[in-house]
Amino acid sequence: MRSWVLRGLRKGVVTTSFPAKEAEDAPPWSTRPVRRKKGDVSCPVNAVRGDSVDMCRCISCGRCSPQFEPELSISTAVVNRTASEFSRSFHVYIIDTGSCGACNTEVHALSNPVYDFNRLGIFFTNTPRHADALLILGVLAKGMEDVLLEAYNAMPSPKIVIAAGACAISGGVMGNAVTERIHADILVPGCPPGPFTILDALIRARGKQ
Ligand code: SF4
Ligand code: SF4
Repeated sequence: MRSWVLRGLRKGVVTTSFPAKEAEDAPPWSTRPVRRKKGDVSCPVNAVRGDSVDMCRCISCGRCSPQFEPELSISTAVVNRTASEFSRSFHVYIIDTGSCGACNTEVHALSNPVYDFNRLGIFFTNTPRHADALLILGVLAKGMEDVLLEAYNAMPSPKIVIAAGACAISGGVMGNAVTERIHADILVPGCPPGPFTILDALIRARGKQ
């Protein structure tokens, strides 16, 4: 106990002030490739469209370098619907329909002392019956389709569906996209999306910012 107190005093406050302040310490995986040089590129997921990149497809493989280079951007989420009903508290149920595990790691980082999403009234819940949002990770694996729909149907209304990561949004390299089976109100691009990007999407889903 004493060592924890001393460690806390030594390190000070580690929690980010995002979204009150810009996340200047955002790590490089919250990036989007932008055109820097002319020339053809061979994108494995056909994400390159002329001079821009479809972030809902991009798997951050870097194969388009040096024609395209990363640029820091946290707000890459596509928010098609917001629900101000959840402005006081927001409970998120995570379902993994076939991820590699990296998206899960980034999502779970939200509860660590750096991001501490509970301070914003956002919580994970272990049951869809208590959930305001369904957060889907990974491609839609065979056998998970019924489970996904069961979880969705168990949620009370109003509810929001969030597809996070290139796999869930577009199927990644070779999988099936979750969005082809269920309508997603919010798309969080990235492979994986960083915690700041996910946090930004959750905040915007509640009609904030
Ligand atoms: S980083 Fe990879 S997936 Fe993304 S646009 Fe470039 S080549 Fe395509
Ligand atoms: S989007 Fe990338 S990090 Fe997320 S599950 Fe798919 S391959 Fe893994």
